[in-house]
Amino acid sequence: MTDFITRFAPSPTGPLHLGHAYSALLAHDMARSVGGQFLLRIEDIDRTRSRPNWEEQIYDDLKWLGITWDDTPMRQSDRLSDYEKALHILWDRGLLYPCTCTRRDIAFAASAPQEGAEPAYGPDGLIYPGTCRTKTDRRTAFPEHQALRLDMQKALDAVDQSEFCYTEQSSVKDETLCTPALNMVDGVGDIVLSRRDFLGSYHLSVVLDDAAQGISHVVRGKDIQPATHIHVLLQRLLGLPTPIYHHHRLIRDEGGKRLAKRDDARAIATYRAEGKTPDDIRRMVGL
Ligand code: GLU
Repeated sequence: MTDFITRFAPSPTGPLHLGHAYSALLAHDMARSVGGQFLLRIEDIDRTRSRPNWEEQIYDDLKWLGITWDDTPMRQSDRLSDYEKALHILWDRGLLYPCTCTRRDIAFAASAPQEGAEPAYGPDGLIYPGTCRTKTDRRTAFPEHQALRLDMQKALDAVDQSEFCYTEQSSVKDETLCTPALNMVDGVGDIVLSRRDFLGSYHLSVVLDDAAQGISHVVRGKDIQPATHIHVLLQRLLGLPTPIYHHHRLIRDEGGKRLAKRDDARAIATYRAEGKTPDDIRRMVGL
């Protein structure tokens, strides 16, 4: 047994497709080849979109693919008190503020100041123009049931680091990738760390969960790579370790488009129903 611990973290919001199969098989094979651990995490934090039948289908498809996982799967819906604790810590440090802006307000404010100029986009979409940043007194009690944003400038001041670095592992060589702190204000902005309709957010839960599961190596798609420096910043803020990352190639359709959950045609369940074997799936994703 080595210290290698990785995970597959699907959201039960639709059927697993070829892209998920590649990600899960790759992480699983990496763990098994070094005698490490492969863990499962059900990212069901968004209760409005998660469904128990999709969760069942995930277990079923993974078992069919020949994937075995160590330990009981972690479920984000069981971790809300940990997310709340972390949010309280950040709130008490004055790093969060409540935001009542709708998507429309944000789009309007982001395009208003520089008429004609293109609004800026970051890993989370349109960069928040800061409308609510100074609206509330942050010494008040923790606001319940409101969206909470991270005050990026204050967060950067709190960690006082000029850049955020992590190790990107590839089959060729490991690389240290860094993003200057200066780019985080304009290029990322005040991201949402807790949503009005559910506690927490993808960025917050992913760093807390990876730490709680003791993940040493995060294996996930290149589509998430642009968010990794946000994760490193949150790890610094919350005193959590930074795992090694391996962002793998994406499985695309014939037109070169990344596969999406609604792509039922490429769902593992569809291939199973057609009589394909797990080895066929491995071949199709180039493993
Ligand atoms: N739940 C995310 C997804 O299904 C995975 C996030 C991650 O691996 O960090 O795309």
